[in-house]
Amino acid sequence: MKVIGLIGGMSWESSVEYYRIINEEVKRRLGGLHSGRCLLYSVDFEEIERFQSEGDWKKAGETLGDVAQSLEKGGADFIVICTNTMHKVIDDIQEKINIPIIHIADATTNKIKEQGINSVGLLGTRYTMEQDFYKSRLESNGIKVIVPNANEREIVNTIIYEELCLGKVQQTSRDYYKKVIQGLIETGAEGIILGCTEIGLLIKPEDSDVPLFDTTYIHALEAVNMSLKK
Ligand code: GLU
Repeated sequence: MKVIGLIGGMSWESSVEYYRIINEEVKRRLGGLHSGRCLLYSVDFEEIERFQSEGDWKKAGETLGDVAQSLEKGGADFIVICTNTMHKVIDDIQEKINIPIIHIADATTNKIKEQGINSVGLLGTRYTMEQDFYKSRLESNGIKVIVPNANEREIVNTIIYEELCLGKVQQTSRDYYKKVIQGLIETGAEGIILGCTEIGLLIKPEDSDVPLFDTTYIHALEAVNMSLKK
C-alpha cells in the first residue's frame, strides 16, 4: 500500500472527511483491520486564508510547497491537496517535490465523463467559481461549466468561509444552496460539482434533482485507488 500525503487543514472540517473516507474505503476493499497508510500535514488555515484574501498566491504556493516537501521527506508516495481552491497553486507545489499530485478536478472530470454528462453547475469558493484555474481543467475535457450569478456566488462563498469552514451547518444555508442548485439545473446543468471540500457537509444527494459530484469523496477515493494500485 502506497503512503498518501495529505495537505489538509483547509479547512480541518473537510480534512476529517478525507481521513474518514480513506480509512472506510481501505477497510471496505481489504477487510479485517486494514486502514489507509497516510500522512496528514494540517496547516493553520487563518494564515492560508490571509494569503488568499490578500491575493498573495505566491506566498501561498511557497508555503504549501514546503508542506508537500515535508510530506515527501516523511515518506509520502504521492500528494492530495485537500481543497479545490488551493489547486490554483498546484504548479508551485509540484515544482518543489518529486512525487505526483492527484488533481482534484481531473478526478472529478473522470467521474463526470463516466456518467456521460456534458454540462455541470459548479459551486465553490469565489476563486474556484470565478477564476480560470479550475474551470479550464474541466472545459478542456469538453465539459461545459455553469456558475451561479454574481450575487449568488457572493453568498455561496460567504457560507463556505463564515459557516462551513467553522463547522456550522445551518438549515437556512442548505435551503439557499438548494435554490442555487435548482437555478443551475434550470440553466442546463445535468450535474452539480460540490467544488469545495466542505460543501458535502451541507448538501446531500437528496438535495438535488441531478447527480452531485462531491469532490471530497471523489478525491479521497482516487487517493485510495492510487494507494492500492500494484
Ligand atoms: N475547502 C475549500 C475548497 O475546497 C475552501 C477552503 C480553501 O479556501 O481552501 O476550496
